[in-house]
Amino acid sequence: MIVIMRHNASTAEVANVAARIEQLGCQAHLSEGSERTIIGVIGNDRAIDKAHIEMMSGVERTVPVLRPFKLASRDFHPMDSVFPINGISIGGKEIVMMAGPCAVESREQLLETAELVKAAGSHVLRGGAFKPRTSPYSFQGMGEAGLRILAEARQKTGMPVVTEVMSPEQVPLVTTYADILQIGARNMQNYALLHAVGEAQRPVLLKRGLMSTIEELLMSAEYILSHGNQRVILCERGIRTFETYTRNTLDINAVPLLKQLSHLPVVVDPSHGTGHWNLVAPAARAAIAAGADGLIIEVHPRPEEAMSDGEQSLRPDRFAELVETLRIIAVAVDRTLEP
Ligand code: PEP
Ligand code: MN
Repeated sequence: MIVIMRHNASTAEVANVAARIEQLGCQAHLSEGSERTIIGVIGNDRAIDKAHIEMMSGVERTVPVLRPFKLASRDFHPMDSVFPINGISIGGKEIVMMAGPCAVESREQLLETAELVKAAGSHVLRGGAFKPRTSPYSFQGMGEAGLRILAEARQKTGMPVVTEVMSPEQVPLVTTYADILQIGARNMQNYALLHAVGEAQRPVLLKRGLMSTIEELLMSAEYILSHGNQRVILCERGIRTFETYTRNTLDINAVPLLKQLSHLPVVVDPSHGTGHWNLVAPAARAAIAAGADGLIIEVHPRPEEAMSDGEQSLRPDRFAELVETLRIIAVAVDRTLEP
């Protein structure tokens, strides 16, 4: 349940209700809005008598929360979550662009791409150093050497870096180099990994699983939030359907739905969502029009030479053109896309 405090409730009254909730064996999560404080009750709240809580001083009412996700839910946190990531902010009025190659392939390739995407208007640099590949014979990424190259690119361009972490053991290593920890679609329900990034001191970009429902995505976000990390970015990257012309089916519905159900920022990946470079720009435009807070896009200076996902990677000039059209769409939906 959530406990809605009166708008003039004192700090002592809020603390008193929170203490009572804890005494009854649940956890109290405070969400302080400009109007009033909301206390989220986490745990087995069936043991708590709502009439008893409603009699406490400063309490306006209690509301049952029927959905299984709590901390991720907008009921608990009515305002949008907006948080800083090394100099930029996500979840607010400004759209955040993340771009770069699928994988870090070499120092030259990454530094060249980083400069080009930055010049085109990207705010964050993407690039995988640990790659979850369908085949064990495919390029698996450069590992720590790739992370070092990403850190060098950050230092040269000033862009924060987002990169994938594939196992709980890798979290400390990836955390030393990355600004945002990416949880790949294949690992969305790797609960040990969600627990580990829940304890990390970095924002997390959580990608929707290939065959996962929106509720399952939000439950995975709940794992991270419940382990103490409040900086979770949800990422719609397409799901598997019967369609074979595209790699995945980008679920545009997920964008407004996630924004309604949750306060967390929502980013769309039109590269994996479509699988074809010539579908990336239209899908990206649709995502911004639908209310996404940002995009993550694969860009490669020579897509035909890419070691992974070349067919869905944009050339830097095409990425630059796309960003210009997105600026116009952003304004149409009362957002901005700053250089
Ligand atoms: C990626 O971002 O390169 C990637 C592997 O994405 P996903 O986990 O969504 O397939
Ligand atoms: Mn990829």
